[in-house]
Order: sequence, then structure tokens, then C-alpha cells
Amino acid sequence: MNFDVVIIGGGPAGMSSAIASAQNGSRVLLVERNEALGGVLNQCIHSGFGLHYYNEELTGPEFANRLENELKKEKNIEVLINTFVTSIKDNEVTIVNSNGEQKVKAKSIILATGAREKTAANICLTGSRPAGVMTAGTAQKMVNIMGKLPGKDIVILGSGDIGLIMARRLVLEGANVKAVLEINPVTSGLRRNVLQCLDDFNIPLLLKTTVFSVVGENKIEGILYGNVDENYNPIKSTEKFMKCDCLILSVGLTPETDLLPDLKIMKATGGAEINEYYMTNIKNVFSAGNVLHIHDLVDNVCLESALAGKYASLSAQGKLSFSSPIEVASGKGISYVVPSVCYKNGEKLIAKFRLKTKITRKNIVAKSGSKVLAKKFMLAGTPGEMVTFEIDKSSAEKQIVVEVEE
Ligand SMILES: Cc1cc2nc3c(=O)[nH]c(=O)nc-3n(C[C@H](O)[C@H](O)[C@H](O)COP(=O)(O)OP(=O)(O)OC[C@H]3O[C@@H](n4cnc5c(N)ncnc54)[C@H](O)[C@@H]3O)c2cc1C
Repeated sequence: MNFDVVIIGGGPAGMSSAIASAQNGSRVLLVERNEALGGVLNQCIHSGFGLHYYNEELTGPEFANRLENELKKEKNIEVLINTFVTSIKDNEVTIVNSNGEQKVKAKSIILATGAREKTAANICLTGSRPAGVMTAGTAQKMVNIMGKLPGKDIVILGSGDIGLIMARRLVLEGANVKAVLEINPVTSGLRRNVLQCLDDFNIPLLLKTTVFSVVGENKIEGILYGNVDENYNPIKSTEKFMKCDCLILSVGLTPETDLLPDLKIMKATGGAEINEYYMTNIKNVFSAGNVLHIHDLVDNVCLESALAGKYASLSAQGKLSFSSPIEVASGKGISYVVPSVCYKNGEKLIAKFRLKTKITRKNIVAKSGSKVLAKKFMLAGTPGEMVTFEIDKSSAEKQIVVEVEE
């Protein structure tokens, strides 16, 4: 099989990039390992999706359904579900499904494989490994898809959006969510989720607090928990016991980059380093969505992935040109900026960044040497929110630095 663009992963990133690639003149193959397209959206039955992209508040499955309907209108997209991509070598993608193993040739490849949840082992959680300790995504699948409650007295570790949303969901289904523990001094979730998922349900959020160890042999009986110091070390004198029959871990996501061990990975995101065209260090391999960097909003996933799809398509047709590169770097107060490289090509750079700490009433600036290329006022911002920054790079020199102005 030969295609212009092969896309791995049929979540929102994969579907958006497939639509854009086809609309830009390419023959596209979209490969998804599950039995349906939609990715993570399929298990997110809460609303809050699509506020920017569709100007409507949709549930996850509704959002996925809309994208899939758009995809079906494109004639040049072939979709393979129940199909696993097992390896990528040069411009050849190996797929496995009920027909066996096949090789597919691609002029461009887009990695849209999403992210997986960190587990107890990833965060070196001490104590035994009894039943009742699980990730938030597993708990979400149990409640929303299988119709089962993972426990009655529940503690959630981690206050990212998944943890916050699951706290509300579990209360609505009749569980007692005793507390959400967060090791950092601020939550990493969106403000709207703290208000709507915790405050509205009187669920305590304990900051600078973590699980010291899990108690229980076959089944979890409770946790030992307490405060941490500024270096995240447990303060033993604050240790207390909390009884629970379920501990849900919402402690972050890791981009699924394993298919391409030669990718140059950005330390701060765990995803590939990319240039302005979403191309990675591997020629003709592009990356978009949660595998690139973890998104809070699916709207941003779709907007970014549509650009990745367009550029992958142009590259497949030999229409992508690279002028002198300009490095894009993070400066004071910024944890990372995507992309890492842009070009002098007349288009505005649409960069995405995350803050290191919470800020109020500050300017974010993009500078090249002493020249200020762009400025953005932020009334308030937290590390949990991904921020879009348009930068006029027409007068940029060798490097652009994005930073919080003193
Ligand atoms: C609990 C939760 C709540 C959320 N709430 C909101 C919200 O309220 N509002 C909002 O806007 N966003 C929300 N999001 C964020 C949004 O859902 C994600 O950002 C988005 O789904 C990421 O899209 P993606 O396509 O990159 O990844 P995914 O949705 O993870 O899709 C990746 C796809 O790739 C497939 N895949 C992976 N490897 C292979 C392989 N080797 N071969 C074939 N297929 C493969 C997977 O099966 C999967 O279908 C939430 C996310 C979670 C987890």
C-alpha cells in the first residue's frame, strides 16, 4: 500500500490532521488500534469540549462524533480500525490487524498516538500493591463505560484535570470522595475544574500534601499521608492515616513516543522537538496532539493537528521549503515553548507555552536580542493552562526567547 500521508492514532489529533492533509491534496491513511475512532474522548462523557472549536459545549463522544462526520466527508481518507502500528522505519509503517502484518509506504507520517497515564511505579509510590489502587483513566473507564464504581471511600492523588473531573463524577455516582491530595502548592488543573468539580461538591483539596504509603495487603485499607517540604520530601511529623477503599492516581501523562526511539525528545514535555511545520528531527515525520505535549483542551489539539496535517501534506508533495532557521527558546518563568525552531517565511509563528508558576497581571514577551517581537498581557495564569502566543518573526534574528517580563 502507498499513501501520501499515514497517520498513527485516530483520536482528535489524528482525525483533525487527516482532514487537513486530505483537504490539502493528499491521499491519507488513518490507523487506529481500537475498535472506534475518538481516542480518550470516548470515555469523557462530561461536557466542556469544543467551546472554542465549535463554539458549543459538547461531551467528549459528541465532539469525537462531529470530527468523525467531517472526516467521512473527505474522499481521500482511508481508515483502518482494530489495526496496530508496530513499527516505523524510514518511510515504511508496519501495521498488524486481522489480515496479518502489512507494510505501508508513506511520503509523510504523522505520529498522533496520544499519551498514557503515569502509574504507581512511575511515581515510586511506597507500600504494598493491593487491589483498589488505579489510574484515573481506568477509574473513568470503569464508571463511564463499564458502569462499575471502583470504591466507596475514595482518595485522589493529583489535582490535574483528570483527577478533578473524576472527583465530581464519583460523587455524582454515589461515592464519598474524601480528599484530593496535591504535592504542589497549586493545582495543575484548570480553574474552572477546581470550582465546578471540587468547590461545588465540598471536596477538600489538600495542597503540598502527598501519599507517604499505601496501607493494606490484598485490598487497600487506607493511606498514610502528610505534607512535603519545598524539595518535595515528606515531613514525617505531619503523617496521618486516612481510611479508604480506593486510591486513584491522577499524576500526569506521558507522551506515547515509543514507536520512534530516534525521536529527539524535549525534556520539559516528554514529546518530540518540532519545527514550525510540526516536523520532528526525523525527516518527514510529524507529531501532533498529546504525543507532542499534553493538552488541557481538545480545541487546541485540533487546531494544532490541522496545521500538522497541512504541512505533512505539503511536504509529501514537495511543497515545503525551509529558509534560515531561528531557534525558539523558553526564558524566565516559562517552562517550555513549542515549536523549538521556526523559519523566516512571512507567516506569523503560533507558539504554545506553559508557565513555571502562577502569575497575576504580567506581560509575556517574545524577544530576539533586545527587539521585542510580541507582547501579551496576562491577568492571571497557572502552569496548568496552555497559552497560545502569536509572534511576528519577520525581524527575528537567530533566536527568539519567550519570557515573563519582570
Ligand atoms: C479525563 C480527561 C478529561 C478531559 N477533559 C477535557 C475537557 O473537559 N475539555 C477538553 O477540551 N479536553 C479535555 N481532555 C483533553 C483531551 O481529551 C485530550 O487532549 C485529547 O483527547 C488528546 O487527543 P490525542 O488525539 O492527542 O490523543 P488520544 O485521544 O489519546 O488519541 C490517541 C489515539 O492513538 C491511538 N494509538 C496509540 N498508539 C497506537 C498505535 N501504535 N497504533 C494505532 N493506534 C494507536 C490510541 O488508541 C488513541 O485512540 C480531557 C482528557 C482526559 C484524559
